[in-house]
Amino acid sequence: MDDTRPVAGASLHVRDLLVTPRRWTLWRQRPRLIVFCLVTEAVAIGSTALAAGWVHPSGKDVLVMLALAVLGVTQAELGRQVERVRRRVNGTPHINMTSVWTFAGVLLLPPALVAALVAILYAHLALRSWYRLQRVPAFRSVINGSVVVLTCYVARLVLELFGVHGIEGALLDGWLGVGAIAGTVAAYFVANALLILGALNMTYRSIRELFGGWADNLVELATLCLGTLTALAITTQPVLVVMVVPPLLVLHRGVLVKQLEVAATKDEKTGLFNTLGWHNLATSELARAGRSNETTGVLMVDLDHFKQVNDTYGHLAGDLALKAVADTITAQVRSYDSVGRFGGEEFVVLLPGVGEEHVVTVAERIRHAVSELVVPVDFADDGRVIRDLSVSIGVAMYPNAGTVVDRLLHAADTALYSAKNTGRNKVVSF
Ligand code: GH3
Ligand code: MG
Ligand code: MG
Repeated sequence: MDDTRPVAGASLHVRDLLVTPRRWTLWRQRPRLIVFCLVTEAVAIGSTALAAGWVHPSGKDVLVMLALAVLGVTQAELGRQVERVRRRVNGTPHINMTSVWTFAGVLLLPPALVAALVAILYAHLALRSWYRLQRVPAFRSVINGSVVVLTCYVARLVLELFGVHGIEGALLDGWLGVGAIAGTVAAYFVANALLILGALNMTYRSIRELFGGWADNLVELATLCLGTLTALAITTQPVLVVMVVPPLLVLHRGVLVKQLEVAATKDEKTGLFNTLGWHNLATSELARAGRSNETTGVLMVDLDHFKQVNDTYGHLAGDLALKAVADTITAQVRSYDSVGRFGGEEFVVLLPGVGEEHVVTVAERIRHAVSELVVPVDFADDGRVIRDLSVSIGVAMYPNAGTVVDRLLHAADTALYSAKNTGRNKVVSF
């Protein structure tokens, strides 16, 4: 997947790049990101210069590169309609299907031509997003391109380490060739994930965060498989390569469907499940709990006097507090507990497979963590913070308080009401 999320000053674009380097959006990013960009770009340019001096491309290589570039541009153009809808439901501006062509390039082309291919494909994407879909600052496109170039070089290096020179060599080498291509796919996959992580400039907390979910990985794997088939077609019967485009468009559409699914069950403001998403999940979790005879806890969490927070700090600051509370609740529960926002300043948590005592302990932990929260109002430059937040929590247990979701919610709500009426900032069980 690609990283072209909007950043501060994203409305500045190509004009600024041409005007003066001093005004580049890059200089307004965090220092770590600036260093990462400059180092990655320098390494990409340096290794391309080295590679260009080493291997001299033939006329046929140049033709293959141009064919891949034409296919890549065609596919991006044909996918624009899908991409437009996709961007409306999901913030990530660009889903990267280009690795089909760049990976085919790894298997078919000398390195310097792979760099040329990446430059053409990314320049096209950048120009198209500037003019129509979303303005992405130039430095994002440049860093994305550099990351892909380096990914390609790492993958090619692995192929060479197998003693295999390109797809034609792999075809002659039998099982060694098959293993070499599998190794190259793996190298592309890992190098890309690590480099994008650098570009996102995050510190990953788990392998899952580094490599994303299964669905993302499957899409990435599918594009690399299609890249291999592209390379195979080009070496055996080049005309057949057009057969790669329809499955690629379907794959792109599949990503859209998945994102629509996620968007329909997610609360935009907090990133938690929305009412519908939480309700669906809770229903299937309760069915499972019923089959395995487990107790399950439901928490209903409501911020105390939140209207006052809005009145004091403003509605936007209130939103920051809501997000901070959502994150705090999520941090206090296990990854498979479901946290949802039930509209307004009310949250629900489902804790499968735990007894009442433990559920109350978790609720107390959440209550305590919220009371310790200090939320910086980062758009106000005066260093203002929101503190002294508190929540009241109502607890209901499956199956004692009810065996269906609505019944349990009603019970948790009754307990919450009692918490509110007896002083707030407390946990009450039904
Ligand atoms: P109580 O302790 O009785 O729960 O008091 P309260 O002020 O929290 O309760 P009330 O239900 O009277 O008010 C809820 C407030 O939450 C009112 C509304 O402005 C605020 N609110 C609801 N949704 C949002 C939101 O999305 N963002 C912000 N900033 N505030 C919200
Ligand atoms: Mg409230
Ligand atoms: Mg409320």
